[in-house]
Amino acid sequence: MTLNVFNTQSRTLGAFEPLESGKARVYACGPTIYDHAHIGNFRTFLFFDIVHRYLEASGYEVRFVMNLTDVDDKTIAGAVEAGMTVADFTKPFGEAFFSDSATLGIRPADCYPRATDYIDRMVDFIGRLVDSGHAYAADDGAVYFSVASFERYGRLKGIDTSSLKSGARVAHDEYDKEDVRDFALWKAGSPSDEKAGASWDAPWGRGRPGWHLECSVMSLTELGDTLDMHLGGEDLIFPHHENEIAQSEAATGKQFVRYWLHGKHLQVEGKKMSKSLGNFVTVRQLLDEGYDPASIRHQLISAHYRGDLNFTRAGLDASRSAVQRLVDFESRTAGVDVSDDAEPSPLAELAGEGTSAFRAAMDNDLNTADALGALFTMIARVNAALDAATSVVPADRDAVLAALAGMDDVLGLLEVARASRTVDDDVSAWVEDLIAQRKQARQDRDWARADAIRDELSAKGIVLEDGAGGTRWKVVG
Ligand code: AMP
Ligand code: ZN
Repeated sequence: MTLNVFNTQSRTLGAFEPLESGKARVYACGPTIYDHAHIGNFRTFLFFDIVHRYLEASGYEVRFVMNLTDVDDKTIAGAVEAGMTVADFTKPFGEAFFSDSATLGIRPADCYPRATDYIDRMVDFIGRLVDSGHAYAADDGAVYFSVASFERYGRLKGIDTSSLKSGARVAHDEYDKEDVRDFALWKAGSPSDEKAGASWDAPWGRGRPGWHLECSVMSLTELGDTLDMHLGGEDLIFPHHENEIAQSEAATGKQFVRYWLHGKHLQVEGKKMSKSLGNFVTVRQLLDEGYDPASIRHQLISAHYRGDLNFTRAGLDASRSAVQRLVDFESRTAGVDVSDDAEPSPLAELAGEGTSAFRAAMDNDLNTADALGALFTMIARVNAALDAATSVVPADRDAVLAALAGMDDVLGLLEVARASRTVDDDVSAWVEDLIAQRKQARQDRDWARADAIRDELSAKGIVLEDGAGGTRWKVVG
């Protein structure tokens, strides 16, 4: 089976075929670090994480690059208001982003470029566009991309550029699609940019790069002229990604991106999230309210990335139950009685069917909703089979645990649930003591006592695994 993805550019679902077989070069537009990322941002970042994890699980050698936007209209406005440089102003938001990402089990990218580290390359890149006639320096000290010079402009969003007025300009980083005009690659420096430490020398005078240009230069530098996948939220299709295509392809003469994937925005309690509506929610806030990271992760990946998702506290409660079912299932399966003489059971078959259904869902445009459905169907069937069995052969139990681990490698729910349950030293000492008592009981052939100790631990969510090197234990519930 192959991974099929919906490409925003072609508007079709088709097989993912990277430029180089077995390798996937992926660029994701990361956060603008002018504030704490909210859970809508994290829906998008978790969609990125699912792409990252599933490509790896499918055997691709992945190079995953995600930028942090540290210089743009918003970070400069924030720095000026706070009376700080952009470097100082954005630092804590960058740190908070990494910390929240780790809490939610987001697999780290291979590289996190920031615009401020690529200014020289950006200046060179603009120079190339000017030399080739795709850009021009205007009398306001800025350099604009000439939209009329790039015939394919508007294809990603599907906009009609016939009414385009050649030479009309827009300097803001963000604007509407009605505003198709030449956009700034380099913005002339202003006193506030200088104050924020966001101004650099260039042949056209002091200034700073435009936001769209930043992503083109960082992605081309880190991944080469053609990327296999470029990811972002749906609001970035225009103008951000449309402009990235124009600049990049005008400069390299090659296809910039093979597959464009865009995630749908999250709603909160049925509405668009905004500070003025008072429904602006951050990960930290939810943790303070007592919700655990695995429940947040579950809720945010519970819908297909292109489908609607409405974040609610009631939904989080349901997610908490779903995660608990998962944890209980792992605990039950790991603790099941095994015997080499057990009756044959359908467990290995159920595990195989579960894995196939899970992969089919993921191969169908990374449909996490259906993939979770496949996982919970497997759980229900295995539970029914376990209800009917007194013991199972070890290989059957292991097949289920392996299927579960394979799915969780992509979903990351058990992984996050485990990471957020820490065991303090007292508990460790208590477990070790009981394990020693159980060992003694077994030496004394006091099987009832040994089983009672295993049950006592199991009731506390601690599972024992007897192996050649002794008994290991883990917390699963
Ligand atoms: P920003 O920090 O504003 O640059 O946004 C970072 C990422 O979050 C971008 O890919 C946005 O498209 C995405 N994003 C912003 N708001 C939402 C939302 N409500 N739901 C999902 N993604 C969002
Ligand atoms: Zn970007």
